[in-house]
Amino acid sequence: MKLVTFTQNGSTRIGAMSGDDAIVDLNAVDASLPATMLDLLAGGDEAMERARAASGSDATIPLSEVTLEAPIGRPGKALAVGLNYRDHAEESGQEIPKHPVVFAKVTTCITGPGKPIHVPRVSRAVDWEGEMCIVIGKNARYVAKDDVQDYIAGYMVGNDVSVRDWQFHSPTWMTGKGFDTHGPIGPWLVTRDEVDGSHLEVKTFVNDELKQESNTNQLIFGVGDIIEYLSAACTLEPGDVIFTGTPAGVGVARRPPQFLEAGDTVRVEIEGLGVLENPVIEEPRGAAS
Ligand code: ZN
Repeated sequence: MKLVTFTQNGSTRIGAMSGDDAIVDLNAVDASLPATMLDLLAGGDEAMERARAASGSDATIPLSEVTLEAPIGRPGKALAVGLNYRDHAEESGQEIPKHPVVFAKVTTCITGPGKPIHVPRVSRAVDWEGEMCIVIGKNARYVAKDDVQDYIAGYMVGNDVSVRDWQFHSPTWMTGKGFDTHGPIGPWLVTRDEVDGSHLEVKTFVNDELKQESNTNQLIFGVGDIIEYLSAACTLEPGDVIFTGTPAGVGVARRPPQFLEAGDTVRVEIEGLGVLENPVIEEPRGAAS
């Protein structure tokens, strides 16, 4: 299943893709299903089975009549692994890490497909990082790497947008990784039965120019390693999102460096997971709320 969060007529709900150009409103078909992705995922395998049954309904809505949102608008945690492709660690002048290099993206940075990425008032150094994201499906604590499958709801495309000067203001990287609009995910959550996250092609384009190209089989710490490591420290909960790292080809490593500017479009494509495209704009005045 390709699970979506969508808005239609001012109401935001969850659905499943039906073919390429329609969705099924899951809660409308089966009123026992929740209307938010976090609640669906918290319902575990049983809720997922009911969603799967509902997803076959003929009561579809054309995709053109809805707006797709981030599949999970406000995950409990959005964690990310840095320097997790050898070629990216090398282009960053960093050693190959012995342990996963983990940081948090504050969850207010999460945004959806088609939504604008802001060039903020305080920096011009906005960079792309195409990445596969893991979505947790069940409370995970001390899970061994060979047992992680049951704890994964599925996978998504993500863009770990990074403000490079702010990133290096502090060794934790956190502020530069968490600017508003700098966590695009989507367009949908592909459930784990449909895709194997261990070998998917990853490509990032800026204005149709290929910038990054790799495969998740090149991850230094793979999906199992990441979940084993993180779940030894904290409970991973349904709906938690883990950005797994980006391959070589980011803007800051180019000579000269290249950063995103208003008018650009960033597109991350991952085999089996879809295409996540976002326009880049100047942060609107009055954007603060
Ligand atoms: Zn990243």
